[in-house]
Amino acid sequence: MDELDCAVIGGGVVGLAVARALALAGREVVVLESEGAIGTGTSSRNSEVIHAGIYYPQGSLKARLCVEGRQALYEYAAERGVPHRRCGKLIVATSAEQVGQLETIRAKAAANGVDDLEMITARQAAAMEPQLHCVAALHSPGTGIVDSHALMLSLLGDLENAGGMLALKSPVARAECGADAIVLIAEDGTALRCNTVVNAAGLGAPGLARRFEGLPAAAVPKAWFAKGSYFTLSGRAPFGRLIYPVPEPGGLGVHLTIDLGGQAKFGPDVQWVESVDDLVVDPARGDGFYAEVRKYWPALPDGGLIPGYAGMRPKISGPHEPASDFVIDGPATHGVRGLVNLFGIESPGLTSCLAIGRHVAQMVASA
Ligand SMILES: Cc1cc2nc3c(=O)[nH]c(=O)nc-3n(C[C@H](O)[C@H](O)[C@H](O)COP(=O)(O)OP(=O)(O)OC[C@H]3O[C@@H](n4cnc5c(N)ncnc54)[C@H](O)[C@@H]3O)c2cc1C
Repeated sequence: MDELDCAVIGGGVVGLAVARALALAGREVVVLESEGAIGTGTSSRNSEVIHAGIYYPQGSLKARLCVEGRQALYEYAAERGVPHRRCGKLIVATSAEQVGQLETIRAKAAANGVDDLEMITARQAAAMEPQLHCVAALHSPGTGIVDSHALMLSLLGDLENAGGMLALKSPVARAECGADAIVLIAEDGTALRCNTVVNAAGLGAPGLARRFEGLPAAAVPKAWFAKGSYFTLSGRAPFGRLIYPVPEPGGLGVHLTIDLGGQAKFGPDVQWVESVDDLVVDPARGDGFYAEVRKYWPALPDGGLIPGYAGMRPKISGPHEPASDFVIDGPATHGVRGLVNLFGIESPGLTSCLAIGRHVAQMVASA
């Protein structure tokens, strides 16, 4: 049987960042990715926003790793030439009743260490974004956008330079967790004996963990899937910053993000689905976008929204439950030596990837 020090299951942005951190710490690392390329999962179906860390509950992993990860990501992207832009974001109140909510958001952000948010008037907002309609706004100068594919290629380059490897078309089927090693069994029956295994399989992480013999069933949360559809705007973006309405119960509202090429997209919305493969955008879902977007951009023309793409949120809490935190469980939690499971790494997972990598490498070093 082949032997390996560390196996990271999943070559998305999080698996790659974890593998890079382990390799930089001097460990022998192989990333096992089921597909024929890196980043074909959620990591290529998101908004590519570098989040500031505004909305997450104080003290949560999401809040901590987002704030740490954002700073690390800006430094890393600048150093490595990964395309990115600190474009900023406006959270807009479109009625007088919503203005109080902006203050609440600012206080929540400050509790998370995000202390650069600034309340601005409608006039100041219009000076920044002439096409924007609002009665007041919160400006987040620390929010930005990044080229997630360039980021993943750069993380892979670091991994390989540090002696790590990527094995494509290597789906892990199950594992046997023993007292002194974990044996991974691939779909073709090949077995690999590992000291450390990090399950970063994204949407597939809970299902895979359920096939880890020796891992208590109670250590694996139920997986839920919430699809998010985007509608793109034909022509150039009307705004230079990201525009978010005041959040509504259950979501962030129909917001506008831009990419590095200057293209605008609206969404993602939230649609709870049964199958992870359900990634087709239903054009009818765009109908509800028009009224929402026109609250802050009255000039949106009829027929201006084109079905774009959809991403799937790897949820571990259901539609009527409070949003769960990232779950990053090591032996201290589940009792299996050498195993770290990552569950529910939804947004802000892209922003947090470098901080998650560091966090997991520390867990592995101290286990
Ligand atoms: C609609 C949407 C918008 C988002 N927007 C943002 C945003 O703007 N900013 C932000 O910070 N975050 C955002 N996120 C979150 C972010 O995209 C994710 O947190 C991040 O991409 C997760 O990366 P990952 O590596 O954990 O998962 P993935 O990218 O899904 O990677 C998991 C990998 O594991 C592989 N795999 C699965 N099973 C196996 C197996 N058995 N064996 C081997 N390999 C396997 C898959 O093929 C896949 O490549 C968004 C998410 C969604 C859904």
